Amino acid sequence: METYAYYADGRWLEPAGGEYFDSENPYTGKAWAKIPRCNTADANIAVQAAYRAYHEGPWGRMNPSERGAMVRRLGDAVARHAERLAEIEVRDNGKRRVDIRPGLSSWLIDSFYYYAGMADKFEGAVIPTGRDQILNYTRHEPYGVVAAITAWNSPLLIAIWKLAPALAAGNTVVLKPSEFASASTLELMKAFEDADLPSGVINTVTGFGAEVGEPLVTHEQVRKVSFTGSVEGGARVAGLAARTIKSVTMELGGKSPQLVFDDARLEHTVHGVCGGIFPPAGQSCIAGSRLLLQSGIYDDFVEKLLEVTARARLGDPNDAATSIGPIANKAHFETVLGHIERARQSGATLACGGNAVNPEGAGGWFIEPTVFTDVTPDMPLAREEIFGPVLAVMRFDSEEEAVQIANDSDFGLAAGIWTEDHRRALDLANRLEAGTVYLNNYFDACTQSPVGGYKQSGYGRENGWEGMRDFLQTKSVWLSTARRIDAPF
Ligand code: NDP
Repeated sequence: METYAYYADGRWLEPAGGEYFDSENPYTGKAWAKIPRCNTADANIAVQAAYRAYHEGPWGRMNPSERGAMVRRLGDAVARHAERLAEIEVRDNGKRRVDIRPGLSSWLIDSFYYYAGMADKFEGAVIPTGRDQILNYTRHEPYGVVAAITAWNSPLLIAIWKLAPALAAGNTVVLKPSEFASASTLELMKAFEDADLPSGVINTVTGFGAEVGEPLVTHEQVRKVSFTGSVEGGARVAGLAARTIKSVTMELGGKSPQLVFDDARLEHTVHGVCGGIFPPAGQSCIAGSRLLLQSGIYDDFVEKLLEVTARARLGDPNDAATSIGPIANKAHFETVLGHIERARQSGATLACGGNAVNPEGAGGWFIEPTVFTDVTPDMPLAREEIFGPVLAVMRFDSEEEAVQIANDSDFGLAAGIWTEDHRRALDLANRLEAGTVYLNNYFDACTQSPVGGYKQSGYGRENGWEGMRDFLQTKSVWLSTARRIDAPF
């Protein structure tokens, strides 16, 4: 068993309460590491270190080009440690190795390079106020200390989506990874030691949301909270942050629709739809978990979908031949099975899957890729985020009906449209209530393009120019060249 420390003020620390909890390998179901169970005292140490680093250390006064060079060094550090980071991410949350190396890890590195380059390019504006003898201009300034709280499904990616722009913008950061997958974020801290940033600029506390997350969110020295997680967690955190009027970014859940029209290319679309949910076992915020099929292709599409799904191989996430890895933690495994059981009783037809399995006798938490047909829009299966390998198939006749069903959701994270009629695709892209719309593809993302939610999927954006904007506040400066100011009364 490996025992981790938490990282604050440039030091590795024991948790104040002296307690640890186990991290389990989803492939085997066995504990492999001990993670510090931090509490308010630890949160305070980390926030105070970040506050000092911002207000007293060199970071807050550093010119943006120098800061950009340091952020770039973080990307270099990730590149040097990419193998180890990938190994721990797979062991800790069961992500498929092929999804991390080389694709994801080069993405992680590129995020630092991208925002490093942006550090000295975020220009203010001279405002045309219409007044004589007044110069009014804007500056974009960091908030100070940022609390970054992340989910378990893709800990490194989610952390870096926050870290790279927050730091490039000039903030300091305290990270809080999920209790279910903290090890890779702690390994990231080890990698960053190579980059030699001033102490306190980046810190990571581990533990449970209520015990260490809430003290971060409510700490008066934290001025910005960036949260990725569930709607319930986000609502709680946004409420707590509101007490001290903190700026908040929310990246929350989804129940994303994929609309397939009669004219879509069948095989190509089936591949896209399957790839849009099953490879990460549905544990992706943008998983296309609602499949809306136009009546004319319904039967053919379902037949082909089941044929392709049957080819999926569940197994070791380290094995390149594995199509679907495990569910990342036991609690969530049970939650997904509960959703499946309720769906069975709701009147939907279980077309394939639905069972927990034990491929390769490894002992971990696997669920077969599961397809329910004859789903109606009012069923919980069509409305609740399952965050597992479960696809709900519905039927529609007209474009109007497809848009109505797609938008009839509390969520609005992503949507897919599959059609050869590009006029229709562009028209519907405008009409769907989602932060990301894919036309004849699904699941892509890159550092340069913003992601985020509509409705209860959240607010604020990560990635792209807007990802950096989210970590800056605007100051308006008024300068007068008038030689005198008249008496006001
Ligand atoms: P949770 O909301 O349960 O937890 C997210 C993070 O918040 C964890 O670190 C958790 O800590 C912490 N947390 C929970 N409660 C509090 C609290 N009261 N105060 C402070 N921190 C708290 O989400 P999951 O981890 O289960 O993640 C899955 C969800 O994340 C799904 O809904 C998914 O769609 C969404 N997600 C959204 C993405 C997006 O970009 N929109 C990307 C990836 C996932 P701990 O777990 O340690 O208790």
